[in-house]
Amino acid sequence: MTAEYAKTSTEAKARGLSIYFTGTPCERGHVAPRWAISKQCTVCQPMDRSREYVDAMRLAFERAFMATLKTGFLHVPHQDEDGWLVMPV
Ligand SMILES: [Zn+2]
Repeated sequence: MTAEYAKTSTEAKARGLSIYFTGTPCERGHVAPRWAISKQCTVCQPMDRSREYVDAMRLAFERAFMATLKTGFLHVPHQDEDGWLVMPV
C-alpha cells in the first residue's frame, strides 16, 4: 500500500531510483522526497525539468498534503516509470 521508497541516497542508487524519502522535513519544511544524486529536496530543487513537470509535482504534493490532513496519516506522492511524481486523488 505504501510506496516503497528508498530511505537513503545510497539505497536509491542501488535500486536505480532517482529519489529517496526520509520523512524528515527539508530546511523549508517540505516533507518531500530528495534527489538521490544531490540529496536536495525535490520541491526546493525541481532540477532542470520543464515547467509542466514542476506544476505537476506541486499539485501532487498539494494533494498529498490534503490527504495527510484528512486522514492523519502521512501521504506522499509516488514516482511513476518516467520519474514524474503523481498523487492519485
Ligand atoms: Zn524543500
